[in-house]
Amino acid sequence: MSNPSSATMSQFRHSATVAIADIQLQGALTGATNKFVNGRTTALTELPHADALRDHFKKIRAATLANLPHYLELFEQRATAAGAQVHWAQTGQDAVDIVLNIARQRGVKLVTKSKSMATEEIHLNTALEANGIVPVETDLGEWIIQLAGEPPSHIIGPAIHKTRHQVAELFSKEVGRPLSPDDIDGLTAEARRLLRTQFLAAGLGISGGNLGIAETGTLVLVTNEGNGRLVTSAPPVHIAIIGIEKICPDWDAAATWLALLARSATGQPMSIYTTAITGPRRPDEPDGPEEVHLILLDNGRSQLTGTPYEESLQCIRCGACLNVCPVYKKAGGHAYGSPYSGPIGAVITPLLFGLEEYAALPQASTLCGACKDACPARIDLPRMLLQLRQDEVAAHLLPWRERKAEEFAAYVLGSAGRMNFFTKLGRWGQRPFQHDDGLKLPISVGDGRALPSLAPKPFRQLWAEGELDNT
Ligand code: SF4
Repeated sequence: MSNPSSATMSQFRHSATVAIADIQLQGALTGATNKFVNGRTTALTELPHADALRDHFKKIRAATLANLPHYLELFEQRATAAGAQVHWAQTGQDAVDIVLNIARQRGVKLVTKSKSMATEEIHLNTALEANGIVPVETDLGEWIIQLAGEPPSHIIGPAIHKTRHQVAELFSKEVGRPLSPDDIDGLTAEARRLLRTQFLAAGLGISGGNLGIAETGTLVLVTNEGNGRLVTSAPPVHIAIIGIEKICPDWDAAATWLALLARSATGQPMSIYTTAITGPRRPDEPDGPEEVHLILLDNGRSQLTGTPYEESLQCIRCGACLNVCPVYKKAGGHAYGSPYSGPIGAVITPLLFGLEEYAALPQASTLCGACKDACPARIDLPRMLLQLRQDEVAAHLLPWRERKAEEFAAYVLGSAGRMNFFTKLGRWGQRPFQHDDGLKLPISVGDGRALPSLAPKPFRQLWAEGELDNT
């Protein structure tokens, strides 16, 4: 499967610069991420033994991934016994082909979809459209960005970058009359009215999967809108695309997973709907699909097992790390050029789609560690970002100027004598460029802002001379 897009150094810098200058976008990003962060903090404070639960969850995820083939096979066995058809997709293209084959066999022309990052990852909508099949996103946020012709900008809030004014404009165009941005209920009602007819007309419903429970072969969907249930039950055929890492051994483990997922994502104790699907409609059931297809998507994931990056597969896509990341909060999701943005996106995007194409992403972090603190599975994202940076150096992917600057820094910092010598040299050499507000160098650094001058006495000297005791 071709890469979804790319984020080279210059592309990321350009996109981030444009995003930072966009006042509307900055307001929308700050409002949404702050809301998520506050909600998560409150929800975890109210959860007894939250830290212990997170430790327990990490152990569950690590143990499951260490035995992934076993749990995947068990899931296949139990889901098949329940009447579902399980498909294995090695690549994104394989998953697309499986969906297209099923759609062709059933003569499907219209597909309803509930929110799924896996389908974003494999560009399913583009493939459906290219084959004369109309995909309709039915999650409100996904529908907004489908109307706008944009990719998602957040794992759980695909349209968080949109203001209500922009949403009203999109909806007005769709319904052919002006809608007020102040009437949120009215906007939602319009979306509901337009989407309802699609649910009934669709020949196929496509969803993702938050987790697949091996013990019973059950697909679990966690949603906040009723669309997920309509997509998976109204059309005669339901296809779910699930990353292979989303396997959960049993319902006990699922209880821990679910206790942390919504709290970390939106701050809710539980999402509005938690839907468990085990096979298609039974003969004595009044509704539900005739066929359920579960596509287990690898697309590069299995290559990460047994490597220093295996831990990234513990991710449950809650989005908490995005909301606390200082880079994501300013640059927004689109700068990452991938459906997966923020700290987890900066790790898994290069791993799944290529380090060269996404060379900027491991650098798009201050390494402050807020992502690791926020992660329900305590995934050590900073460690993997550093490891990816080392991989970039080894693969000569950094621009030569940065590479040379870093080699020089390593040389200077590698010995106290060299450090002292170059500090003295720098103090002497900075004189022609010193101004009252700092250093102004003849080359552009940080939009022409002044840099701090080297201090007359370095910290080491103050320390050695005991002058710090007096401060
Ligand atoms: S890395 Fe952790 S915090 Fe980030 S989306 Fe995944 S589970 Fe959530």
